[in-house]
Amino acid sequence: MKNQLLLSSFLIFSLTTYAQEKDGLIYAKMQTENALFLKSKAPDSIQILSSKNNLSVINFHPILAEKLHDKLGHGHGYIYQSSKEEAINSLHSERVSKKATAYNYTISENAFINTILNDVDENEIEKNILLLENFKTRFHTRQEANDAVFKMKEVWENLITLYNRSDISVKVVDHISTPMKSLILTINGTEHKDEYVIIGGHIDSIVGWDLNSQSYAPGADDNASGIATITEVLRVLLKNNFKPQRTVEIMAYAAEEVGLRGSKEIAEKYRNDTKNVIGYVQFDMTNYKGSTEDIFIYTDDYTNKELNNFLMQLMDTYNTSGLHQFTYGTSECGYACSDHASWADFGYPAALPFEAKFGEHNSSIHTVNDTYANLGNSSTHAAKFTKLGIEYVVEAAKQSNILATEEIKNSSNTIFVSNKVLHYKFNTNQSISFYIVDATGKRIKNESKKLSNGTVDLTNLNNGFYIAIFEIGDGKTISHKFVIK
Ligand SMILES: [Zn+2]
Repeated sequence: MKNQLLLSSFLIFSLTTYAQEKDGLIYAKMQTENALFLKSKAPDSIQILSSKNNLSVINFHPILAEKLHDKLGHGHGYIYQSSKEEAINSLHSERVSKKATAYNYTISENAFINTILNDVDENEIEKNILLLENFKTRFHTRQEANDAVFKMKEVWENLITLYNRSDISVKVVDHISTPMKSLILTINGTEHKDEYVIIGGHIDSIVGWDLNSQSYAPGADDNASGIATITEVLRVLLKNNFKPQRTVEIMAYAAEEVGLRGSKEIAEKYRNDTKNVIGYVQFDMTNYKGSTEDIFIYTDDYTNKELNNFLMQLMDTYNTSGLHQFTYGTSECGYACSDHASWADFGYPAALPFEAKFGEHNSSIHTVNDTYANLGNSSTHAAKFTKLGIEYVVEAAKQSNILATEEIKNSSNTIFVSNKVLHYKFNTNQSISFYIVDATGKRIKNESKKLSNGTVDLTNLNNGFYIAIFEIGDGKTISHKFVIK
């Protein structure tokens, strides 16, 4: 019965979508101010159906979005809606008024992050920008768009294989509103599997609005750069055997350029499944340095203040560590300028760190000139966003403490602390190394031992919370939390 119901509602859904696109009109949600602006330009081509809290749902021809694009500069300022009912519902449902509650973000993984930031490799970013640009176009209805999606799936899966990770999977997502597919990579959390830390960007591209002129839309900065950025975040994390406490996801979306269609369907599904998203950070355009400052945190209503502050706090913290010196500023882009708005629309905390101040960003986007050559054949700017992405993912998801609790429970392995002495015994004849980290994530003891059982003197440790991490032989890890008082 459930399946039948789903099938019939799916059919109605597709028919509606088809019908509304046949005459070129679509339903969408945008800022009332922009809807009125379009109405003044082309009164016959747009109908305002309902308005609430500065937002309106409309029925319009997306070619009008170009007029909006001229006004807005990036993005097309609207979120696609599959039907009239859905459009009106999206405006009046509870989720819109529901304010995103952000997680109480903390910074504690300094030791790990300081050792991995230098692994960010501009050549890797370059390789993936060129890989995507070389598809010539990634416009959502073109075959090349899905070819690019499946190529990126292969790139991600090769990293999973290279670093031998059975806890990571990549899923292809089919959509109702576009033939293009999205990708979701999932690293299962070890301790809080149902809490999600997500980064993403769109993988499609566009040139102008004419449907017949989409055969060359290189989209190097918009947004091969964002996809290359999140892919390099992934590579560095896997290279350093990062295992998160919370589930980490990396997403590449279909059809952002025609109303955030891919991200909208995904965020909607997460909301319907009542998934707990701790924070969503969007990487859309990361490789053109147009302003004096390096990174701009966008502070529109559709972003989350605590998450924005957290990103700035991360830059401050890791500037102090000396591994980078990022300058940053704030700016605004208006409603629905990128996929983070889909997450915000469904009540999740979202943020957009962007390549420049609004208006000073790459003016070649959405043209045939958005190429890597025109970005100066360099990925220096995108590398900064990669580092911020790593800092965000590691600090929001946290490194796993319980790496192998099962092994401790189910075998003769033991670790315990008594009278400031740590005792350990492992059922192995392989060599053992261990280190101890304090509550701030700093490594304070580092030793290799040959014996499978022994003791470690802890008398010089101050009172506080610690984790002992043992690595046995070829990388099996067992950890144990303890308190000195
Ligand atoms: Zn974009």
